[in-house]
Amino acid sequence: MLTLGIDIGSTTAKCAVLEDGRDFRAVSLRDSGVGTDGPQAAFEGVLAELGVSRRDIDCVCATGYGRAAWQDADLRASELTCHCLGGVYVFPGLRTLIDIGGQDAKVISIDANGSMAEFVMNDKCAAGTGRFLDVMAALLRRPVDSFAEAAARSKSPASISNTCTVFAESEVISQLAAGAAVEDVIAGVCRSVATRVGSLARRLDVREPVCMSGGVARNAAVREALSEYLQVPILFDERAQLFGAMGAAIYAAKRQSKE
Ligand code: ADP
Repeated sequence: MLTLGIDIGSTTAKCAVLEDGRDFRAVSLRDSGVGTDGPQAAFEGVLAELGVSRRDIDCVCATGYGRAAWQDADLRASELTCHCLGGVYVFPGLRTLIDIGGQDAKVISIDANGSMAEFVMNDKCAAGTGRFLDVMAALLRRPVDSFAEAAARSKSPASISNTCTVFAESEVISQLAAGAAVEDVIAGVCRSVATRVGSLARRLDVREPVCMSGGVARNAAVREALSEYLQVPILFDERAQLFGAMGAAIYAAKRQSKE
């Protein structure tokens, strides 16, 4: 049995194909999300990698912000459910998952059976999401995937006091004009995201083990600052950005085996 999860996010599209509810056979990721050709490209990409067609897939489950718009789904499931399933698959016994995506952040408490117990979410404000980092990357003319390396060179991280993204942009411009080093500004920007999400997480009981998911999990500077803020180790897996798609494929497999 092959099941496919497609996670259509605000900035990226991800797919994962699972065999018999156990082993992932292929994944794909495209850097354009809902309302673009990214989801179709990710979908075709993962099928091509496996050398199969849509007919060979027993069940397709769509998740993410754009899941309602994906016509070719047999099922749909929330991002919370899917990230939780993906996280527990990669880290059995996981108790807290912190997902930072392109336009929102969620913290999920997971019970001892691997099911979601509680969650808190920020989907109202760009601060504390990938959007904040992307806005700063455009302003600094540096790719967001170079932020962790730059932040690691910082000797004195800048303090970004504004939580509003628009005001924080002006603050960064003023700091650069006053001679602040770019790496110190980048370290400050990464810390700012970690502090916002960390304070969201503190509304729940942050039980260990804790992991991060979503694209921002790939930024080691945010991971380290969040770990410092919450005073807990944060687990990371290279597939963190794919947890939603992986969880959707797992959800589809569970539903198929019930039928
Ligand atoms: P969504 O599902 O909402 O589209 P993702 O979970 O894919 O969002 O996360 C997208 C965010 O991840 C981007 O806004 C960007 O800040 C961040 N990101 C993506 N790739 C990388 C990378 N290689 N290094 C650091 N950050 C990244």
